[in-house]
Amino acid sequence: MTTTPLQDLAKSLHNCQRCKLAKLGRSQVVFGVGNPHASIMFVGEAPGANEDLKGEPFVGAAGKILNDLLQSANLSRDDIYIANVIKCRPPENRDPELDEVETCKPFLLQQIQLIRPKLVCTLGNWATQTLLERKVGITKVKAQAFYMKDFVLFPLLHPAAALHQGGLLDTLKADFKKLKEFLDRNTKPATPTSGTAPAAPTLQIDPPHPTQMDLF
Ligand code: URA
Repeated sequence: MTTTPLQDLAKSLHNCQRCKLAKLGRSQVVFGVGNPHASIMFVGEAPGANEDLKGEPFVGAAGKILNDLLQSANLSRDDIYIANVIKCRPPENRDPELDEVETCKPFLLQQIQLIRPKLVCTLGNWATQTLLERKVGITKVKAQAFYMKDFVLFPLLHPAAALHQGGLLDTLKADFKKLKEFLDRNTKPATPTSGTAPAAPTLQIDPPHPTQMDLF
């Protein structure tokens, strides 16, 4: 059976031993799930206990919040692809360490290259700083579009923030509303075709207005 380059990449990371997390209690590598042709990708920080058990990102309490927020933006998990910056659970859910991020980042970049999403929504500081390549606080950059070379980056608070600070759920809801508005502005209606299958609306992000280039 032939495999896709994305499947090959996942296979190459199976039982990965490239960093110390392999020996610090992770039970499996959590590569990512979803539509391999998605035009929207979400990137979180690292698997937690539930993700480590199931082998899928965002299947625990933060995942439940994420599912509701996705629904509020008219998105379902079948439409998108979800991965994390680091693919193995850090012990006690501690923050990722620099060497772990440096080791795993090339695989996230390869996932992005293979899936070719038009929009990448980073969830929280780790994913945002890793892909923006800038040490900037999430609250300063959230819910705005950053035009990168190959995709548009749209940072959002991490859904787990609402688990620790209930008040942030309203902020997350408001920011997902901005995401929906961005998607609505940039989704072109289906063009009728003579074929049998109905054409789907497509996300087609126009180049930025010059003032958007100057956010830093
Ligand atoms: N938090 C993350 O950043 N990723 C997950 O997969 C789950 C919780």
